[in-house]
Amino acid sequence: MRKYKPVELPLKEVPTEFETENAMCPNCESRNAGVIGRLGLRLVFRCDRCRVRFHRPTASVQLL
Ligand SMILES: [Zn+2]
Repeated sequence: MRKYKPVELPLKEVPTEFETENAMCPNCESRNAGVIGRLGLRLVFRCDRCRVRFHRPTASVQLL
């Protein structure tokens, strides 16, 4: 499993079942944004193309 340095906010590890989640980047609409961590109940994604970080509330994460 890759480790990411916490840059701004300390991210929590994502359960394995969410590690492969993908989301569409709100900035460039690339679908290559991958999960980099978790902030509370939100998954945090980072876009591979423009490096924008964004959150997405996920229904299944609320089960954590
Ligand atoms: Zn992007």
